[in-house]
Amino acid sequence: MIFVTGGAGFIGANFVLSWLAQSDETVLNYDKLTYAGNLNNLTSLRHDNRHIFVQGDICDGDKLTALFAEHKPRAIVHFAAESHVDRSIHGPAAFVTTNINGTFSLLEAARAYWNSLEAQEKKDFRFLHVSTDEVYGTLGPEDPPFSETTAYAPNSPYSASKAASDHLVRAYHHTYGMPVLTTNCSNNYGPYHFPEKLIPLIITNARAGKDLPVYGDGQQVRDWLFVTDHCAAIRRVLEDGRLGETYNVGGWNEQTNLSVVHTICDLLDELQPKAQGSYRDQIKHITDRPGHDRRYAIDARKIERELGWKPAETFTTGLRKTVEWYLANDAWVAQVQSGDYMKWVDLQYSNK
Ligand code: NAD
Repeated sequence: MIFVTGGAGFIGANFVLSWLAQSDETVLNYDKLTYAGNLNNLTSLRHDNRHIFVQGDICDGDKLTALFAEHKPRAIVHFAAESHVDRSIHGPAAFVTTNINGTFSLLEAARAYWNSLEAQEKKDFRFLHVSTDEVYGTLGPEDPPFSETTAYAPNSPYSASKAASDHLVRAYHHTYGMPVLTTNCSNNYGPYHFPEKLIPLIITNARAGKDLPVYGDGQQVRDWLFVTDHCAAIRRVLEDGRLGETYNVGGWNEQTNLSVVHTICDLLDELQPKAQGSYRDQIKHITDRPGHDRRYAIDARKIERELGWKPAETFTTGLRKTVEWYLANDAWVAQVQSGDYMKWVDLQYSNK
């Protein structure tokens, strides 16, 4: 059995679904179900006894300890986090609590459990920490992409809290010998992505006839990776990653935010044309986010060289799949948009 934290969120749910599509090994999915956790992402597993869902907080060390003792996982894959940069600007406390204190509680419970294992189980155990490229800060237009040896320079409360959690995970390897692995991935996109993040926000706002908010000049550059490619990378690192190492994961696919928005509008113009005009007419430039990093880019050569992982999707194929998924899943979108958090999204992007 593997123990997944945050498996009701965007990437975690895609990971659980893809894991169970490829393996019969049981997943215990431990998630607090914050605004970002959504069991509707996992409805296809409702009657699947290979998936055990437990609602809980990673800050609750006693609960984690009891679950480890009962279920004896061979690995922990840690996705649970507060993940939205804009929210971290408005309310950083939850990011410190979950991303730093929560990861610490999880590591402590995992360390005690790992120490209790028999020699062979102890050797085989893995703790995989899922992190972000945002810990490396921002790049100039001519800088080389982030590699695993790039110095950490986080600029938002979100990235600072993730950086702290990365350091704790690293320290548990160097101090206690725990068999840890860390992945630092670029921006993900794909099915089940909450519409507070750029790509699903643009798709859902466009279809609703609303403004398409673009921060500042829209020339911020991000690397984009289709979510199932990220899930495949995590599986490869879990299988064969070298203990204590970090692996950068990216799509070799740098895009400006504005060009992402244009591409989505063009896909929608093709797949669901408006009666008049283009979806591009709805684009509205709004005040830039404070401290907005200008460019992220990932050098993913290490994971390719050592583990043979490469993305299967290009941005063109992945974005088309994503737009098609949103067009085919109105019920999921409606359910998510009925939640309270959408009020926050509306307020945030209206510049009020
Ligand atoms: P998400 O916000 O969609 O999901 C986070 C999940 O964690 C939710 O299900 C939520 O309920 C759960 N959670 C939050 N606090 C919790 C707590 N205290 N205890 C237990 N569960 C809790 O996030 P995501 O986009 O799926 O990201 C997952 C992980 O991947 C995060 O660690 C994030 O930093 C990392 N990451 C994300 C991206 C991206 O582009 N989205 C890129 C690289 C890395």
